[in-house]
Amino acid sequence: MNLRYKISLSLIFTTLVPVSLIIFFVLWHVTDDAEKNAKQTLQNYVQLTASKLADEFNASIREIELYAQTQEVKSMDPNLFLPFFSRELERQSGRYEKLYISDKAGHFYLPFCGNPALNFKCTFDDTDPKSLPKHLKAREYWQKLVGNNKHEKAMSYLSDPVISYTTEVKQLIVASTVFGFDQKLKGMVGASIEWSRIESFLANLQANIFAQYSWQAKMMLISRSGTYWYHWDPEKLVHLKRDENGIIIKDAEDLPISVSTNIYQAPEAELHQAHKAMLAKQSGYIEFNASDTNEDSYLFYAPISSSQYSIALQVSERDVNEASYELKRLYLMVFILALCVFMIAAVLIAKAITDPISRLVGQANRLKQGNYTLDKTKAGSESDELGELSETFIQMATVIVDRQKRLEQSEERFELAMKGANDGLWDWHLADNSVYYSPRWKKMLGYGTDELDSHPSTYFNLLDPKDHKFIQKEIQKIRFSDKDSFKHKLRMRHKSGGYIHILTRGIVVRNDKGEATRLVGTHLDISEQTHTEEKIKKLNEDLEKTVKERTLKLEVANRHLNELAMRDMLLNIGNRRALEKDLNKIHQAYLTHKTLYSIVLFDVDYFKKFNDFYGHQAGDEALIQVVDCIGEHLKKADKIYRYGGEEFVCVLPNVTQDEALTMAKNLIEKVAALTIEHQASHYQLVTVSAGCAEVMAQDKTWEQVVSRSDKALYSAKDAGRNRASLIIE
Ligand code: GH3
Ligand code: MG
Ligand code: MG
Repeated sequence: MNLRYKISLSLIFTTLVPVSLIIFFVLWHVTDDAEKNAKQTLQNYVQLTASKLADEFNASIREIELYAQTQEVKSMDPNLFLPFFSRELERQSGRYEKLYISDKAGHFYLPFCGNPALNFKCTFDDTDPKSLPKHLKAREYWQKLVGNNKHEKAMSYLSDPVISYTTEVKQLIVASTVFGFDQKLKGMVGASIEWSRIESFLANLQANIFAQYSWQAKMMLISRSGTYWYHWDPEKLVHLKRDENGIIIKDAEDLPISVSTNIYQAPEAELHQAHKAMLAKQSGYIEFNASDTNEDSYLFYAPISSSQYSIALQVSERDVNEASYELKRLYLMVFILALCVFMIAAVLIAKAITDPISRLVGQANRLKQGNYTLDKTKAGSESDELGELSETFIQMATVIVDRQKRLEQSEERFELAMKGANDGLWDWHLADNSVYYSPRWKKMLGYGTDELDSHPSTYFNLLDPKDHKFIQKEIQKIRFSDKDSFKHKLRMRHKSGGYIHILTRGIVVRNDKGEATRLVGTHLDISEQTHTEEKIKKLNEDLEKTVKERTLKLEVANRHLNELAMRDMLLNIGNRRALEKDLNKIHQAYLTHKTLYSIVLFDVDYFKKFNDFYGHQAGDEALIQVVDCIGEHLKKADKIYRYGGEEFVCVLPNVTQDEALTMAKNLIEKVAALTIEHQASHYQLVTVSAGCAEVMAQDKTWEQVVSRSDKALYSAKDAGRNRASLIIE
């Protein structure tokens, strides 16, 4: 339900409902009063009619009672009362249909009939002297006044409607007891009032009373016995019983049978109740549904005093309440009119309120649908709340439009960047578990724009099963840690069947609570790069292997070179560099561990002369022989080095200078024992001299030890050569 209906309904319910209730209450009250008044008026009319009739009946009764007191009647002599009656009838000019007298036997006398043979009694055939006299024994009024009046009480009586045995006229009988001069009951005097007379009397009354109304009112007399009188239905009015041929049916005594309908025979139970009230001489009314017209009707009734009758008026409820119905219709019309006016007003008010809001809603909807053309017309006047709302909305919309433009620009830039980078885009909305895969993303895997579902399962279906566990774990880690970005290499199945290498990079979008709401990232096909990297890796591995092999070879060569650098090639012993290197170590060991060592310095005697005498070649060979001889006789731990020219140094670890001297002397002998000819020497043989020295506490370097051995050698030379010497300090 939109706001306009809500406001309209609110106005209608908050205002119209109470107003309606008030109108209905007033309407009900006023019309109820009108109905009550109408009924009361009718009741009054009925009572008025009843009292007029009562007057009429009373007058007749008084009159008949007066007749009963006359000489003519008291005499019970037909010769007197019949002429009297004729005169009276004439004088009354139609007030009574007939005047008559009935005796105690029930026989009766009338002015216009009578059997002269039977003292003017009315007989069945007044021309027949033997005709039987008629009688009134069956008549109720006769029974009451004469037949059953054992105590001879003076009484008057107004009868039920009857039909005259003689004239067949519908009539009422007003009768009174007749007492003779001896005060004995002699009979009764009666007057018949023709029904037509009462009818016209009532018609006049009705015409006077109801002249102002156009009602179909029906008036009736109802006797104590319940007989209808002045009934509009001839069947219900008293009538003579007839056979199919219309012949009057008579009783055993040859009197016609009259038939009447009683109110208690009516089908409406309410009428029976009304009759009971009438019997109790009450006035009032009943409501009932008239079976003949099938209309809701009223029956107003009132007793006619001094008679056994009540008068009743039947009128349809519609007629009685016509005035109030009229009033109701008028009120209803006014109410409907007011309702229409009010509803139109409510709708107009609601429209005035909701139109600006509708415009704002329309504007908001356009913004929602991406239409950013702003309608800058104000929704309300400047001063009211809608004006303020409208102003705020326009400002808000302007900001949205601005942001949208910037967003579009940044999206455009992003798209361009993506295109340039040849990256595929994926965007996973965690709330609804939907994933956007860009056309490029799909194309990378060999799929068209319209292929593949926007669902995370698409991703995992295409992912290399080997990467599944890892990626699942990574996603959980990213979602539930405070990490903002990620980058992984993985493999995905191409539509053609093979796998391609992908570099996936992404960022996590979080809400205010820090919960991950979106994962957005790119895919880059790095298959070529990966293959190239693999190739380069292989090449590097090969290269590394070659370099290792070469390095090993070089090391061997270097070692060999080093060895060569340390050797004397002629004599195949360590050269001076080797000596220096080894002595550095040995002396360092001495300095650290006090492991002593001795040095023996050999020098070939008169070798210059040998060269000069035998040639340089022979000199070299002699040198080889001397060195080989010394080397052969050295211990394993001892080593010989060429110190320079024809000088050699023996390094003797763990050997004292005395032991060294002994060793030197022995070696000198061994050289001499080679017996290499040397004619320029006074020994005639190639000989060697030696200087020995032991490392000592003051020696900071091995050079000091060698220096002492040199001094010792000089001493041996000096002493004649072919000997070893030791300097004791
Ligand atoms: P001295 O008894 O005092 O040692 O006399 P000497 O001649 O040996 O002394 P000097 O040291 O003056 O001479 C050494 C000579 O040794 C000089 C040089 O010609 C010779 N010589 C040095 N090295 C070699 C070599 O490798 N081969 C040959 N054939 N001769 C060499
Ligand atoms: Mg020398
Ligand atoms: Mg020499």
